[in-house]
Amino acid sequence: MAETAEFDVAIVGGRVAGASLALLLARQGRRVAMVDRDAFPSDTLSTHFMAPLAVMQLGQLGVLSDVLAAGFRPIVRHRTYVEDCLLEGPAGPPGAFSLSPRRSVLDPLIVEHAVRAGVTFSGRTRAERLIERDGRVAGIVVSSAGSEMREIRARVVVGADGKHSKVAELVRAESYDAVPAMRPMYYGYFHGLVPLPEATTELFCGGGQIGFVFPMRPDEDCIALELQPGDFDDMRRDPKRGFDERVSALPGMAKRFASARLEGKLMGAKGIDNYFRVPFGPGWALTGDAGYLKDPSTGLGMGDALAQAFMLADALGAYFDGADWDAAMTAFHRRRDERMKPLYEATLAFTRMRDPSPGQADRLRAICMLPPVARRILSKLPRHFTSMVSPATAARVESLVPQFHAARERDAGAARERETHAVSI
Ligand SMILES: Cc1cc2nc3c(=O)[nH]c(=O)nc-3n(C[C@H](O)[C@H](O)[C@H](O)COP(=O)(O)OP(=O)(O)OC[C@H]3O[C@@H](n4cnc5c(N)ncnc54)[C@H](O)[C@@H]3O)c2cc1C
Repeated sequence: MAETAEFDVAIVGGRVAGASLALLLARQGRRVAMVDRDAFPSDTLSTHFMAPLAVMQLGQLGVLSDVLAAGFRPIVRHRTYVEDCLLEGPAGPPGAFSLSPRRSVLDPLIVEHAVRAGVTFSGRTRAERLIERDGRVAGIVVSSAGSEMREIRARVVVGADGKHSKVAELVRAESYDAVPAMRPMYYGYFHGLVPLPEATTELFCGGGQIGFVFPMRPDEDCIALELQPGDFDDMRRDPKRGFDERVSALPGMAKRFASARLEGKLMGAKGIDNYFRVPFGPGWALTGDAGYLKDPSTGLGMGDALAQAFMLADALGAYFDGADWDAAMTAFHRRRDERMKPLYEATLAFTRMRDPSPGQADRLRAICMLPPVARRILSKLPRHFTSMVSPATAARVESLVPQFHAARERDAGAARERETHAVSI
């Protein structure tokens, strides 16, 4: 069996979690090997919504300008429908935006940056086994088509290998707070959907399902449906017909969707499990979906993978610089869970949430058709919403408020400066 030089880190999985971690570690000057069984560029099962915070992290990684250069549109508005009533607002605080980059573009871009930073990347290369030495994981055995198995020895092996993580299986990583999959999902890429005037993410809650429109590039949208478990078999019989009927029935979509053409085929998933895994042990760590998985309805997976990459790169960096392994990784575990638990709970709550009863939906319609009532309720919402959501969700809302305030102050300052300038001229 061939043996390669020793690396600081061997990463299994080269998509958003693995490649971002590889890039950050290479920038620290670590020797990083990364393998992925897929050929790149390629797609993976995922819709593509990235919230403003995730977009900011792409900026911190240094890949955002390349993603924008690939044509993905900054999404500036966000719509949520409850039945046929809607609430619309900005997609993020002023200056921020969300994005829906295709994984076949995003993942290879991060890999490209990682390779430029010095990462040794092998595509079409599968991790088969772990190497152990003195009770610690000390590398991986990999196979690639047409060549013999080889060893990649490393001080740490990271499983960034997604929800069916081989690394997690081999180290028998324990899971906790697990909740089984709740909802199936179907999605596809469409051309010819009549767009809204500004790039807007749309969420349609009603009829026992959630519909999503994610604008990607001009004339390219990802449309998704999250269904009830009982709907899956029915959809599977004729996915295209079922999908078209359901999307056409969403508010405002009959005309907009009438000339939309599906690119390729619809993708479907019976449901995504929810769990945390203990993310480290002797010589190994887990990140991305391998360490923490949840239903995709809140569109947090990629952003959470990026956030974990930053946290794990800090922890591994501290270890390589001499910190104790258990201390550094226990701190990572705690930091990860502190940050991700509220998002996990919010995702479970959103996935479990059911439509208002027909009577309540009619009351909502009546409220929306009377502007003074709708205005009064919306005006009161900022004072009373804390009694309607969990403390963690309320805290999330509150954390965004200062950003709107700061932007308003900035605008006011700039306006004052313009006036002073005009007077002095
Ligand atoms: C239907 C659906 C819709 C979603 N929509 C969104 C969304 O809108 N927004 C969002 O942020 N998230 C979404 N997600 C979640 C998101 O896709 C994941 O959170 C994200 O892909 C996690 O990235 P990752 O790098 O951890 O894993 P993955 O993207 O799964 O990558 C893992 C990689 O590991 C490789 N691998 C696995 N085993 C091996 C092995 N033995 N050897 C070598 N390589 C291996 C695989 O080939 C793969 O390339 C969605 C998920 C699904 C299923």
